[in-house]
Amino acid sequence: MITILVFALGLLIGSFLNVCISRIPKRESIVFPHSHCPGCGRNLKAAELVPVLSFLVQRGKCRGCGGKIAWRYPLVELLTGVIFIVLYTRYAGIDFLLYAIFFSLMVIVFFIDFDHQIIPNRLILILLSYVLVWQITRPVVPWGEALLGGILGGCVFLILALISKGGMGGGDIKLVAVLGLLFGWRYILILMFLSFILGGVTGALLLAAGIKKRKDGIPFGPFLVLASFIVSAWGENILFWYLRLSGW
Ligand SMILES: [Zn+2]
Repeated sequence: MITILVFALGLLIGSFLNVCISRIPKRESIVFPHSHCPGCGRNLKAAELVPVLSFLVQRGKCRGCGGKIAWRYPLVELLTGVIFIVLYTRYAGIDFLLYAIFFSLMVIVFFIDFDHQIIPNRLILILLSYVLVWQITRPVVPWGEALLGGILGGCVFLILALISKGGMGGGDIKLVAVLGLLFGWRYILILMFLSFILGGVTGALLLAAGIKKRKDGIPFGPFLVLASFIVSAWGENILFWYLRLSGW
Protein backbone atom coordinates (compact mmCIF):
# COMPACT_ATOMS: atom_id res chain seq x y z
CA MET A 1 0.00 0.00 0.00
CA ILE A 2 2.74 2.44 1.02
CA THR A 3 4.60 1.54 -2.19
CA ILE A 4 1.61 2.74 -4.22
CA LEU A 5 1.61 6.02 -2.28
CA VAL A 6 5.35 6.46 -2.87
CA PHE A 7 4.80 5.78 -6.59
CA ALA A 8 1.89 8.26 -6.72
CA LEU A 9 4.05 10.87 -4.96
CA GLY A 10 6.76 10.25 -7.59
CA LEU A 11 4.22 10.76 -10.41
CA LEU A 12 3.06 14.06 -8.91
CA ILE A 13 6.59 15.33 -8.36
CA GLY A 14 7.43 14.17 -11.91
CA SER A 15 4.61 16.32 -13.23
CA PHE A 16 6.16 19.34 -11.49
CA LEU A 17 9.62 18.37 -12.79
CA ASN A 18 8.22 18.58 -16.34
CA VAL A 19 7.38 22.22 -15.65
CA CYS A 20 10.91 22.87 -14.30
CA ILE A 21 12.55 21.11 -17.28
CA SER A 22 10.73 23.24 -19.83
CA ARG A 23 10.84 26.55 -17.94
CA ILE A 24 14.28 26.73 -16.22
CA PRO A 25 16.26 26.97 -19.51
CA LYS A 26 13.93 29.81 -20.60
CA ARG A 27 14.51 31.54 -17.24
CA GLU A 28 10.76 31.52 -16.59
CA SER A 29 9.19 31.21 -13.15
CA ILE A 30 8.37 27.62 -12.22
CA VAL A 31 5.32 28.73 -10.19
CA PHE A 32 3.61 31.24 -12.51
CA PRO A 33 1.96 31.23 -14.96
CA HIS A 34 -0.41 28.29 -14.54
CA SER A 35 0.34 25.18 -16.67
CA HIS A 36 -0.94 25.69 -20.18
CA CYS A 37 -0.99 23.95 -23.55
CA PRO A 38 2.03 25.11 -25.59
CA GLY A 39 -0.18 24.83 -28.70
CA CYS A 40 -3.23 26.92 -27.89
CA GLY A 41 -2.16 28.55 -24.62
CA ARG A 42 -5.32 27.36 -22.84
CA ASN A 43 -4.90 26.92 -19.07
CA LEU A 44 -5.05 23.25 -18.06
CA LYS A 45 -7.88 22.11 -15.77
CA ALA A 46 -7.25 19.99 -12.68
CA ALA A 47 -8.28 16.78 -14.49
CA GLU A 48 -5.73 17.47 -17.25
CA LEU A 49 -2.96 17.77 -14.67
CA VAL A 50 -3.37 14.24 -13.31
CA PRO A 51 -0.03 12.55 -14.12
CA VAL A 52 0.03 9.82 -16.81
CA LEU A 53 -3.74 9.13 -16.56
CA SER A 54 -4.74 12.42 -18.19
CA PHE A 55 -2.36 11.64 -21.06
CA LEU A 56 -3.95 8.19 -21.51
CA VAL A 57 -7.55 9.44 -21.20
CA GLN A 58 -6.93 12.25 -23.70
CA ARG A 59 -4.97 9.83 -25.92
CA GLY A 60 -2.02 12.20 -25.95
CA LYS A 61 -3.99 15.15 -27.34
CA CYS A 62 -4.92 18.59 -25.99
CA ARG A 63 -8.65 18.92 -25.25
CA GLY A 64 -8.68 22.45 -26.63
CA CYS A 65 -6.76 22.40 -29.90
CA GLY A 66 -6.23 18.64 -30.42
CA GLY A 67 -2.49 19.26 -30.59
CA LYS A 68 -0.24 16.35 -29.65
CA ILE A 69 1.10 16.22 -26.10
CA ALA A 70 4.73 15.09 -26.08
CA TRP A 71 5.12 11.54 -24.71
CA ARG A 72 8.04 12.94 -22.74
CA TYR A 73 5.61 14.30 -20.13
CA PRO A 74 4.18 10.96 -18.98
CA LEU A 75 7.64 9.40 -19.40
CA VAL A 76 9.22 11.84 -16.92
CA GLU A 77 6.33 11.23 -14.51
CA LEU A 78 6.64 7.43 -14.72
CA LEU A 79 10.43 7.63 -14.44
CA THR A 80 10.19 9.75 -11.27
CA GLY A 81 7.66 7.28 -9.84
CA VAL A 82 10.02 4.35 -10.48
CA ILE A 83 13.01 6.27 -9.04
CA PHE A 84 11.00 6.96 -5.86
CA ILE A 85 10.06 3.28 -5.49
CA VAL A 86 13.66 2.07 -5.93
CA LEU A 87 14.90 4.67 -3.41
CA TYR A 88 12.16 3.62 -1.02
CA THR A 89 13.40 0.02 -1.11
CA ARG A 90 16.90 1.26 -0.16
CA TYR A 91 16.29 4.11 2.28
CA ALA A 92 13.84 4.76 5.10
CA GLY A 93 12.38 7.89 6.68
CA ILE A 94 14.36 11.11 6.37
CA ASP A 95 17.04 9.44 4.22
CA PHE A 96 14.42 8.46 1.64
CA LEU A 97 13.24 12.09 1.53
CA LEU A 98 16.80 13.43 1.17
CA TYR A 99 17.55 11.09 -1.75
CA ALA A 100 14.12 11.64 -3.33
CA ILE A 101 14.61 15.43 -3.40
CA PHE A 102 18.18 15.00 -4.67
CA PHE A 103 17.12 12.76 -7.56
CA SER A 104 14.19 15.04 -8.41
CA LEU A 105 16.81 17.74 -9.02
CA MET A 106 18.90 15.22 -10.95
CA VAL A 107 15.96 14.36 -13.25
CA ILE A 108 15.82 18.07 -14.13
CA VAL A 109 19.59 18.04 -14.84
CA PHE A 110 19.20 14.91 -16.98
CA PHE A 111 16.54 16.31 -19.31
CA ILE A 112 17.80 19.90 -19.55
CA ASP A 113 21.28 18.65 -20.48
CA PHE A 114 19.69 16.16 -22.91
CA ASP A 115 17.63 18.92 -24.57
CA HIS A 116 20.05 21.84 -24.52
CA GLN A 117 23.54 20.32 -23.89
CA ILE A 118 23.87 22.59 -20.88
CA ILE A 119 23.57 22.29 -17.12
CA PRO A 120 22.39 25.74 -15.94
CA ASN A 121 24.54 27.31 -13.19
CA ARG A 122 21.35 28.05 -11.26
CA LEU A 123 20.72 24.31 -11.05
CA ILE A 124 24.33 23.52 -10.05
CA LEU A 125 24.09 26.12 -7.27
CA ILE A 126 20.85 24.64 -5.95
CA LEU A 127 22.43 21.17 -6.00
CA LEU A 128 25.60 22.41 -4.28
CA SER A 129 23.64 24.18 -1.51
CA TYR A 130 21.45 21.14 -1.04
CA VAL A 131 24.42 18.76 -0.80
CA LEU A 132 26.25 21.07 1.66
CA VAL A 133 23.22 21.32 3.97
CA TRP A 134 22.78 17.54 3.69
CA GLN A 135 26.44 16.83 4.55
CA ILE A 136 26.38 19.29 7.48
CA THR A 137 23.15 18.05 9.06
CA ARG A 138 23.33 14.36 8.22
CA PRO A 139 26.74 13.37 6.80
CA VAL A 140 26.61 10.70 4.09
CA VAL A 141 30.40 10.24 4.30
CA PRO A 142 33.00 11.86 6.64
CA TRP A 143 33.95 15.43 5.64
CA GLY A 144 37.50 14.49 4.65
CA GLU A 145 36.21 11.86 2.21
CA ALA A 146 33.59 14.30 0.88
CA LEU A 147 36.12 17.08 0.18
CA LEU A 148 38.53 14.61 -1.38
CA GLY A 149 35.66 13.28 -3.51
CA GLY A 150 34.75 16.76 -4.73
CA ILE A 151 38.34 17.66 -5.61
CA LEU A 152 39.02 14.27 -7.21
CA GLY A 153 35.87 14.36 -9.37
CA GLY A 154 36.40 17.98 -10.40
CA CYS A 155 40.08 17.42 -11.29
CA VAL A 156 39.49 14.23 -13.33
CA PHE A 157 36.80 15.96 -15.39
CA LEU A 158 38.82 19.17 -15.72
CA ILE A 159 41.71 17.15 -17.18
CA LEU A 160 39.30 15.31 -19.49
CA ALA A 161 37.83 18.63 -20.63
CA LEU A 162 41.31 19.93 -21.43
CA ILE A 163 42.33 16.74 -23.28
CA SER A 164 39.08 16.39 -25.23
CA LYS A 165 39.01 20.14 -26.05
CA GLY A 166 35.37 20.75 -25.22
CA GLY A 167 34.11 17.16 -25.30
CA MET A 168 33.40 17.58 -21.61
CA GLY A 169 31.66 20.81 -20.66
CA GLY A 170 32.05 23.14 -17.68
CA GLY A 171 28.68 21.98 -16.39
CA ASP A 172 29.90 18.37 -16.23
CA ILE A 173 32.99 19.42 -14.23
CA LYS A 174 30.88 21.34 -11.70
CA LEU A 175 28.29 18.57 -11.48
CA VAL A 176 30.82 15.81 -10.82
CA ALA A 177 32.53 17.97 -8.15
CA VAL A 178 29.18 18.37 -6.36
CA LEU A 179 28.56 14.62 -6.69
CA GLY A 180 32.00 13.96 -5.20
CA LEU A 181 31.08 16.11 -2.19
CA LEU A 182 28.02 13.97 -1.60
CA PHE A 183 29.38 10.49 -2.33
CA GLY A 184 33.00 10.82 -1.16
CA TRP A 185 36.16 9.69 -2.98
CA ARG A 186 35.41 5.94 -2.97
CA TYR A 187 32.00 6.17 -4.55
CA ILE A 188 32.86 9.03 -6.92
CA LEU A 189 35.49 6.72 -8.43
CA ILE A 190 32.84 4.04 -9.01
CA LEU A 191 30.42 6.70 -10.23
CA MET A 192 32.85 8.14 -12.79
CA PHE A 193 33.81 4.65 -13.95
CA LEU A 194 30.13 3.74 -14.44
CA SER A 195 29.41 7.00 -16.28
CA PHE A 196 32.28 6.34 -18.71
CA ILE A 197 30.98 2.82 -19.41
CA LEU A 198 27.40 4.07 -19.88
CA GLY A 199 28.53 7.01 -22.04
CA GLY A 200 30.92 4.87 -24.07
CA VAL A 201 28.41 2.11 -24.78
CA THR A 202 25.67 4.62 -25.67
CA GLY A 203 28.03 6.59 -27.90
CA ALA A 204 29.15 3.42 -29.71
CA LEU A 205 25.53 2.30 -30.21
CA LEU A 206 24.50 5.72 -31.58
CA LEU A 207 27.48 5.69 -33.95
CA ALA A 208 26.77 2.12 -35.09
CA ALA A 209 23.10 2.94 -35.65
CA GLY A 210 24.10 6.00 -37.68
CA ILE A 211 22.12 8.32 -35.38
CA LYS A 212 25.22 10.28 -34.43
CA LYS A 213 28.43 11.05 -36.30
CA ARG A 214 31.85 10.96 -34.69
CA LYS A 215 32.07 14.74 -34.51
CA ASP A 216 28.62 15.17 -32.90
CA GLY A 217 28.88 15.67 -29.18
CA ILE A 218 26.54 13.88 -26.82
CA PRO A 219 25.74 15.53 -23.49
CA PHE A 220 27.50 13.75 -20.61
CA GLY A 221 25.27 14.99 -17.77
CA PRO A 222 22.63 12.27 -18.28
CA PHE A 223 25.28 9.55 -17.76
CA LEU A 224 26.45 11.20 -14.53
CA VAL A 225 22.83 11.29 -13.33
CA LEU A 226 22.32 7.64 -14.25
CA ALA A 227 25.59 6.59 -12.59
CA SER A 228 24.73 8.50 -9.39
CA PHE A 229 21.42 6.70 -9.23
CA ILE A 230 23.09 3.30 -9.64
CA VAL A 231 25.62 4.23 -6.93
CA SER A 232 22.87 5.46 -4.57
CA ALA A 233 20.78 2.36 -5.04
CA TRP A 234 23.45 -0.35 -5.34
CA GLY A 235 26.77 1.34 -4.51
CA GLU A 236 27.55 -0.79 -1.47
CA ASN A 237 26.96 -3.99 -3.44
CA ILE A 238 29.24 -2.78 -6.24
CA LEU A 239 31.99 -1.76 -3.79
CA PHE A 240 31.76 -5.07 -1.92
CA TRP A 241 31.81 -7.04 -5.17
CA TYR A 242 34.79 -5.05 -6.45
CA LEU A 243 36.77 -5.50 -3.22
CA ARG A 244 36.10 -9.25 -3.27
CA LEU A 245 37.14 -9.54 -6.91
CA SER A 246 40.33 -7.61 -6.30
CA GLY A 247 41.07 -9.83 -3.31
CA TRP A 248 41.18 -7.10 -0.62
ZN1 LIG B 1 -3.99 23.08 -26.90
